[in-house]
Amino acid sequence: MSERRVRVRFAPSPTGPLHIGGVRTALYNYLFARQHGGDLIFRIEDTDSTRFVPGAEEYIIEAFQWLGIKFDEGVSFGGNYGPYRQSERRDIYKKYVQQLLDNGKAYIAFDTPEELDAKRAEIENFQYDASTRGMMRNSLTLSKDEVDRLIAEGHQYVVRFKIEPGRDVHVDDIIRGDVSINSSILDDKVLFKSADQLPTYHLANIVDDHLMEVTHVIRGEEWLPSAPLHVLLYEAFGWSDTMPRFAHLPLLLKPVGNGKLSKRDGDKLGFPVFPLEWHDPKSGEVSSGYREKGYLPEAVVNFLALLGWNPGNDQEIMTMDEMIRLFDLSKCSKAGARFDYIKGMWFNHQYLLMHPAIDWTPEFDKILKAEGIQSTPEREAQVIEMMKQKVIEYVDSDNNKKKRNISFVSDLWPLCRFFFIAPETYDKDDKFVRKSWKEDTAAEMDELIGVLMAVDHFSVEEIKDMVESWCEATGHKPWNAWRVALVSTGQGPDMYELAAFLGKEETLRRMQNAIAQLK
Ligand code: GLU
Repeated sequence: MSERRVRVRFAPSPTGPLHIGGVRTALYNYLFARQHGGDLIFRIEDTDSTRFVPGAEEYIIEAFQWLGIKFDEGVSFGGNYGPYRQSERRDIYKKYVQQLLDNGKAYIAFDTPEELDAKRAEIENFQYDASTRGMMRNSLTLSKDEVDRLIAEGHQYVVRFKIEPGRDVHVDDIIRGDVSINSSILDDKVLFKSADQLPTYHLANIVDDHLMEVTHVIRGEEWLPSAPLHVLLYEAFGWSDTMPRFAHLPLLLKPVGNGKLSKRDGDKLGFPVFPLEWHDPKSGEVSSGYREKGYLPEAVVNFLALLGWNPGNDQEIMTMDEMIRLFDLSKCSKAGARFDYIKGMWFNHQYLLMHPAIDWTPEFDKILKAEGIQSTPEREAQVIEMMKQKVIEYVDSDNNKKKRNISFVSDLWPLCRFFFIAPETYDKDDKFVRKSWKEDTAAEMDELIGVLMAVDHFSVEEIKDMVESWCEATGHKPWNAWRVALVSTGQGPDMYELAAFLGKEETLRRMQNAIAQLK
């Protein structure tokens, strides 16, 4: 077989917002396509009209735009294999369904939902297959005339795949190796429904992968059970020679406990499971998104890339280009990948630090504006520079107090409030205040005010010079009390940097206020 150009696809059903697991699947397809100089197709699988959600397709496109995952062809991107929306390909599928009927690989079944329910009640573990199809109402048991008559009279029917029992079906999976099952456990899957004249997922998916010359099917583990059926469909069409290779990616697991990651885990632990915020058009419910939470797209992509794959060493921070170079589909793990959202926050911290503070200011300025504070990007960048390495406290899922790095621009506000808003009151019972502010502190602060008044140019260097010579001469150690005066707690950056940022007037005002209140 000659080498074919690598072509992969991401084929979501527009049934709601894209789950973060779907983003990982698309990312792996993207890395694989780029790495092989191939094509990534964006196909919309919307043959189940009952599950269609308006806005979902647009949402998915916007999410990938934000993440920097680019498609070569497909819905909204164009290309030579279109249309790429399955609902616009009805006539194509009909032709292929007919081919299977003509070849005896499929048959028409008239059993109504009521008849099927009756059979299920009558036969334990009823399955529509080789052992039961002979007692059902279908084109295998009815005469040709009868079948034609039923169709002419407008009776609804489905087309079922006629699965030959007792065969070992092999799926050659790049990640899992040879996966085989016996065909007897499969049922005669519905491929087409007369009611809406639409194919089911299985048929449309196989026909499209074939016509779009897809070479590799990279998708979530939840599709592995469908793979044997897909192998049989390729065979039934006579397309086995060009069947794509399969790679079923590991599941994303809950951050804690067993089972696969769900939206509920996100709600409970406070992390998003969707790339962008999603407004449900029916219920009005709003689900949080990585973008709106303050994640950088590079951080999300880097974090997701390592859920199920690693470059074989402990390198964690990688650019998209590096990932494209290093990615290895065959080295993906079979075992599920735990969705460690705290690690996701760590990635965001790393990526934030890679950006100069000035890049953070548009976001930071929004927060300040909401607090009624006017500032300048320069001053905001100064504050960010002073505080970006600090840690903040949080409460984990077991109610333990923990510390973490600044992961979002919004983490800064509680830490930086005092730069913009002077303390109004001082809490005498606060541990740090009690420890730092003693009987004679007010007098010492008065003296320090005198020293600071004499500083001409209120820069970090000059303040430092003056204050340090005063300390040396007098033996005073004013640091903690001075911090209380300017901040009211034990927080904050270097005192000289803080004083220089506040300016002489504001520094002295805060000190006088503290003296008056804490006397
Ligand atoms: N439409 C399926 C989905 O929603 C596609 C599965 C596949 O990749 O075959 O994920």
